[in-house]
Amino acid sequence: MTGKNKKGRENLARTWGFLADFTALRAEGVYVYADDGRRYMDFTSGHAVTNIGHNHPAVVEAVKAQADRLIHAGSIFYYDSLTELADRLVSITPPGLDRVFLSNSGSEAVEGAIKLARYHTGRQGIISFTGAFHGRTLGAVSLTSSSVHYRDRYHPLLPSVFHAFYPYCYRCMFDKLASTCDTYCMKHLDYIFGQEISPDEVAAIIIEPVLGEGGYVPAPKAYIERLRGICDRHGILLIFDEVQSGMGRTCRWFASEHYGTVPDIMTLAKGIASGMPLSAIVSTKGIMDGWAEGAHGTTFGGNPVSCAAAAATIDAIKDEGLFEKAAPLAADTMERLRELQRDCCFVGDVRGLGYMIGVEFVKDGVTPFPEAVASVKQHCLDNGLIILGCGTHKNIIRFIPPLVTTKAQMDEAMGIFGDAVRKL
Ligand code: PMP
Repeated sequence: MTGKNKKGRENLARTWGFLADFTALRAEGVYVYADDGRRYMDFTSGHAVTNIGHNHPAVVEAVKAQADRLIHAGSIFYYDSLTELADRLVSITPPGLDRVFLSNSGSEAVEGAIKLARYHTGRQGIISFTGAFHGRTLGAVSLTSSSVHYRDRYHPLLPSVFHAFYPYCYRCMFDKLASTCDTYCMKHLDYIFGQEISPDEVAAIIIEPVLGEGGYVPAPKAYIERLRGICDRHGILLIFDEVQSGMGRTCRWFASEHYGTVPDIMTLAKGIASGMPLSAIVSTKGIMDGWAEGAHGTTFGGNPVSCAAAAATIDAIKDEGLFEKAAPLAADTMERLRELQRDCCFVGDVRGLGYMIGVEFVKDGVTPFPEAVASVKQHCLDNGLIILGCGTHKNIIRFIPPLVTTKAQMDEAMGIFGDAVRKL
């Protein structure tokens, strides 16, 4: 589908890729209204951001009211939306994580988390994972390994960063079975500690509890529990990057709740302010209170309007009982996708937590099939459903609908997606 209005596009940097060719005129809930005269269902949630739907009325109202009063503060003085948001955030974060630093993007939160971990421990090493995506700024991209495309021509990156195998059971590096392997892939951490960097030189292990751009893969619970144990044993800080999996995406505030494991530091962004730019680093008093004034900072971080949007987002999730409403529909969606898997030999795996669902396409039972993803995405777009791919091999479709998606909207989306898959 092609929109009418292309004026001025030639001025945009080419590296800034766009999935659809239309110009959006407005958006509301799950829908985006385009200049091609059509209405699209946005099952990307703008890259996992509009978790409570586009332009939620409570968020729009909070933004307007705050913009009328105060737009910028630049860490010169306090303002209500900042302290009110900090209050709300620590009321939902895992126990003990009750200090907050606010910045502007996911990458910036990750940068801050690495700095905090180094500052607190006095160590330098960072362990990240294969397939990880932690952002594109130079520090964050050094931890990112979901594609060389993000790293090529930017070397040298941050030194003393090591990548352990992510517990991606469907594509186990050791050809083990998840049911019997007893987290065998943790041996790769032993190797890193034995041959690449001693554990007492490592400041932090950073992990996405649900691998995002790398393929929508929830880590097994036992793996996360053992990782917590390793960190405790060696005085390493455990960082959960919940930029994508946090703020209700998995039908709980944070993916960590599904694991019953509390990290030392957590990074948040994307869904936090329903599309206004904002990110957060959350940690314990013990870690965050030692971070001296001015040791880290930002001019725009914790923008008053973004804070108001974030507070309204948290209130809307609570007031409307969105987790309770969305969780059964998310479980039903997963079941319907598994039925599709039984019908179609190209669907190799369906997995996820809440509304963070990955559908992996393969041929010959195992070979990544990115052409299938390209074709399914196009069919869906042509029929009014916008979906995103992901994965190291670009062979995974990720379902990231907003929590406010109704049963009728989900039925329509599943119909379009099912037709696309059956056409393969
Ligand atoms: N961490 C994770 C887990 C992410 O998914 C992303 C963005 N996809 C980032 C960090 C970087 O966020 P941003 O694009 O806002 O810098």
